[in-house]
Formats: sequence, structure tokens, C-alpha cells
Amino acid sequence: MKFDDYRIADEIKLNLADAGFKKPTDIQYKAIPAILKGEDVLAIAQTGTGKTAAFAIPVIDMILKQKHSTRSEGIKCLVMVPTRELATQITQVFQQISKHTKVRAFGIVGGVEQDPQIFKLEKGIDILIATPGRLFDLINQGHLRLTSVQTLILDEADHMLKLGFLKDIQDVIKYLPKKHQTLFFSATIDEEIKKVAYSLVTRAIRIQISPNDRVAKNINHSVTYIDMDDKRYFLERMAKENAEKKILVFVRTKVRAERVFKALERVGVASLTLHGDKDQQDRFQALEQFRQGEVNVLVATDVSARGIDIAEVDFVVNYDLPEQVENYVHRVGRTGRGTKKGLAVSFCSPEEKPLLAEIQAYLGKPINVVDMSKEEYRETIDFTEDTNLDLTSLMKEVEEFESKKKKQKKR
Ligand code: ADP
Ligand code: MG
Repeated sequence: MKFDDYRIADEIKLNLADAGFKKPTDIQYKAIPAILKGEDVLAIAQTGTGKTAAFAIPVIDMILKQKHSTRSEGIKCLVMVPTRELATQITQVFQQISKHTKVRAFGIVGGVEQDPQIFKLEKGIDILIATPGRLFDLINQGHLRLTSVQTLILDEADHMLKLGFLKDIQDVIKYLPKKHQTLFFSATIDEEIKKVAYSLVTRAIRIQISPNDRVAKNINHSVTYIDMDDKRYFLERMAKENAEKKILVFVRTKVRAERVFKALERVGVASLTLHGDKDQQDRFQALEQFRQGEVNVLVATDVSARGIDIAEVDFVVNYDLPEQVENYVHRVGRTGRGTKKGLAVSFCSPEEKPLLAEIQAYLGKPINVVDMSKEEYRETIDFTEDTNLDLTSLMKEVEEFESKKKKQKKR
């Protein structure tokens, strides 16, 4: 079935064609009719399978078909997401699909000026995409009313329903009219969170695509064993041997992100960092520079693990293994999006082997191991241009250690 065969507004069809979307993806095929019927939906589908349009298309269509409605009635759809970058991206998808129509989508996020947002809200919008912080600020200041919301969408739903966000969601629901539609979308969800989701709706229908493999099929992902202190040399080599490729590197903490940045800088590899300690404008800028290919290496924490859609990410590197197992799926899911193929590799140190075991248990299968011979490993260490590494003294240390061992044996 093609989008042309759908009973959705012609303007939407034109915009989809414009975006190069001809036929729906599996999740779009399944979710769009259910949403148009007004059902509550819990949709689980792998990363990069087009979940955004799966909710954006029917929501825009429903609003377009409400003949008598006007924007002054207030916001009709509220989309809640965990990060500001994701809010911005999803807003763009809504705007693209509602181009040349009367439907207005707008995103509000924290960390940037509030006044332009208030101005825009006062002019009236139909679809609001928001992160919780700024949303509540604006509600509390009386700039935002949610009393005409018909559809509430939680993207990255499992994350939004976890402690920390759950109370926010429950508070938002209090502001909504009693009768409203709720849509949950994510690539991952566990039983416990599923129960929470069901407790928030009257009747959710569940739509799940390829539940057997948590990692999307377009992603070739593997693990390789590297000592913690050697990881930078492997990243250096990878970046230098693939200078024209886009590499997204995930690390455990903000401090480590900056450290990896410095290590790369020392050896002449330009990179950008993205994490929660950075100013919001810098975060947006880093992502944009990476998107545009001005800088090909982005070192990020898990703030960028979810939802971010950059078409040409060639490699994802788990420089540190994720501590939350489901984030493995989200991190590697930043590559291999849509019809594209992608590569992901995890650098696993001996200390991280228990984490690796947890991730494999979560995936229900082992991750392919790239075995490296001692020579290959050595070659990468030799490859580095890091002058901080004094090879001669290191070799001396090794020799001393070896000779000590020999002496001990003799005794
Ligand atoms: P998800 O939320 O499932 O991770 P996204 O909604 O971010 O995925 O979409 C992933 C990519 O697939 C985007 O670049 C998007 O433009 C593209 N895409 C979505 N739907 C279609 C479609 N029907 N045909 C072609 N490309 C699509
Ligand atoms: Mg998404």
C-alpha cells in the first residue's frame, strides 16, 4: 500500500512525497489506522523505523479534518519527549508533514529564551512538542492551557514513564480533558513500564513490530575487547582511517566526554561534545555541525542516545558500555536509520565484561565479537600520534616486569 492509497488529506500526501516517503513503514502501516480511529496505542518498533511520522501523519490529518475548529480553541495535541534536541527534531517532522496546511506545530524547550515561545503560544498553535521542564514553567505562569488537548503522545515512552518523568506525566494528565487519546511510542519497553502505561489509559491496543530482535536489522553491531587506557588509540585510528565518515561516540559521563575530546584534539582529530553540562545553544550547535558534516566526530553522553535522527551516521562507537541495558539498543540505533545500513562497535574493557553480559542477556543473544590478535592490537597502539604516550619507557616497564617474574620463578 502506498501513501497515495490512504484516506488522508491530499496536502499531507504531497508533503510526504516531497519528503521522499512513498509507502508506509511497518509501524506506520499498523499504527496510522488505529490512531485515526481514536484508539489509545502502545507502539513498539525498532529504532529508525519511522515512528515519528507514524504518529505525526494521523494527528495532522485528524486536526485538518476538524472543520469547525480554530486555533484559538487551544492546543489539540501535546507531544512529550525527554530531550530538547529530540523536541526540536520532532517539531521539524510535524512542520514538514503539515507544510502548506492550516495546522501549526511548535516546539518549546528549556535552556533558551522564553518570551518568543510565549509570543508564539499566544498566536495559537495546534500541536505542541515539549520537554517537561519548560512545559510546566509556562503552565504555572498561565501561558499555556491544555484543556483542549485531544491527543497526548509520549515518544521514548518507556523513558518518559520512568521515575523522574512519571510524576510530570501524571501531572500533565490532570490538566487534560477527561476524554483524550494517549499514544506511547518507543523502541524498547519492559513489563513494569508497560503496566505503568496501561494504568494511564482506558484501553491501549498494543502494536509491536519484530519483537524478536531488539536491534534493528540495518545495524551491524559488534564488540571488541580493549583495555580502558587503550580505547583512545583505537578511536584515534578509526577516526583517522575513516576521516570522511560520521562517527558518533558514546561515553559514560560528561567528564569523560571532555576527556575523549581532549585526547582526540592532541592527535589532530577534530570533534565536538554533547552532554548535559553544556549550554543549550552549544548543544544545538554541536548537533547541527555534526549533522552538516562540518565536524565528523561527536562525543556524547546518553542525552543523545534516544530518538536523534541523523541520516548519515556511519559508525556508532560505544566507547564506554552503557549502564542501562536498553540504552545499548538506543545508542546503536543512531545508525542504520530508515533504509540505510550502519555499523556499531563497543569497546569493552575487562572491567566492563559484567555490563556486556547484562546487555547480551537483555538482547537475548550474544553480540558478535571482533577478535584481535596481539599484533593487530599492538599495531593500533603504535599507530597513535599521541606524544603523551612514551613508548620507550612503557616498553622498559614491561621488560622490567617480565624479568622480575622470571627471577621470581627461578627462586
Ligand atoms: P524512529 O522514531 O522509529 O527511530 P524516525 O521517525 O526518526 O524513526 O525515522 C527514521 C528515518 O526514517 C527518518 O530519517 C525518516 O525521515 C525516515 N522515514 C520515516 N518514514 C519513512 C517512509 N515512510 N519512507 C521513507 N523514509 C521514512
Ligand atoms: Mg523516534
